[in-house]
Amino acid sequence: MLGAVTTGHPSRLRTRCHVRSRTARAVLALGAVGAVLAIAVVVGPLLRPPGPRPLFQLPVPCGETWQLGTYPGHDDYDVDLFPTEGEAWGQPVLASYAGTVTEAGINGSLGRRTPDNPDGPRGRGGGYWVKIDHGGKWETQYLHLLEPPLVRVGQGVAQGDQIGRVGSTGNSGAPHLHYEQRRGRQKVETYFDGQPSDITHDDREYTVTRTSNNCVRGQP
Ligand SMILES: [Zn+2]
Repeated sequence: MLGAVTTGHPSRLRTRCHVRSRTARAVLALGAVGAVLAIAVVVGPLLRPPGPRPLFQLPVPCGETWQLGTYPGHDDYDVDLFPTEGEAWGQPVLASYAGTVTEAGINGSLGRRTPDNPDGPRGRGGGYWVKIDHGGKWETQYLHLLEPPLVRVGQGVAQGDQIGRVGSTGNSGAPHLHYEQRRGRQKVETYFDGQPSDITHDDREYTVTRTSNNCVRGQP
């Protein structure tokens, strides 16, 4: 009798261990499938090539002529925009193309350069800024805005929607709009209304004037 009890006990244990290990294998298998799916979801879009270039427009109102420029130490492809008429302070900044806002806040620090104190302490980075995702891995960035952006993260914008006003927050010498176009997170030459800006290097000072054709609001 005693022998029957002692042999029965280990066999029950073995059965339970067997069940437990089968469950563990199933959980591991499910985990592996989940991990593969998660990797596919994350990596798949990264491997997909960028879509065609959206028909970006100057980020300023229809018919206005602005100076586009760069200077040594800026960064290849970065564009600084200044109006050719009137004050830069407070000018409307418009979405270049329809998309979804992915950044709307403060980059770096604001500093204290205002219309009343244009030579106040300089901030760091982009100051008040907005980033828009246009789909197909295309993005635009708008820096040094005067005030908190007029849009919020997750908001859909149409081409021509006002997203802020020109200012001098962040690391900015004078009121202007710093603007970038990105494809697959890499900066690329800016195009406006289908025409390249010719701003491709920051090895010398270079300016060009363009008139905005940001006239017809696109679909959100
Ligand atoms: Zn700039």
